[in-house]
Amino acid sequence: MTIKQLQKICHKIAKEKGFWDDVYYPCYYCNGKGFIIEGIISNKSFNKLFKSKLGLWDNKKLKIKEVKTTCKVCGGAKEIKYNTNIPEKLMLIVSELGEALEALRKGDLLSKNNKYYNRAKSKVKWRPSTFEDELADTIIRICDLAEYMGIDLEWHLKKKIAYNKKRPYKHNKKF
Ligand SMILES: [Zn+2]
Repeated sequence: MTIKQLQKICHKIAKEKGFWDDVYYPCYYCNGKGFIIEGIISNKSFNKLFKSKLGLWDNKKLKIKEVKTTCKVCGGAKEIKYNTNIPEKLMLIVSELGEALEALRKGDLLSKNNKYYNRAKSKVKWRPSTFEDELADTIIRICDLAEYMGIDLEWHLKKKIAYNKKRPYKHNKKF
């Protein structure tokens, strides 16, 4: 399988599983009401503020007035559409590395014993969530994002590997 094919497959599956669908959340600003209450003012002060301009209000009927404004964040729609965003996808890639670390902490890695690992591979002793699979998940998510953004990972890998070869010991850093 080429890296190009890998990107295409990873992105296709991620789309099928809904990872690129828009997500809707209730608007945090208006709590899903569509408006916000700017203030509650009494009849007296309301009149004082507005009557002169409107000249319509009946003093007896009007007791208090809520001053409402259409929510500035959702524009009255009550919910906010979150477009799939790249920083979120990057953080999900990081979360796979976090899972790899947890697997390592639990000692959940097949390749700690080469004999067992090679046997596991041939005798279908496979299970998800091992250290190895979390590494694979990281690549799957990277391929998915790269395909979405139209990035040719193979080209960049070749370029970067060739560049890294020429760099100094530890790239002149401490570690
Ligand atoms: Zn709102």
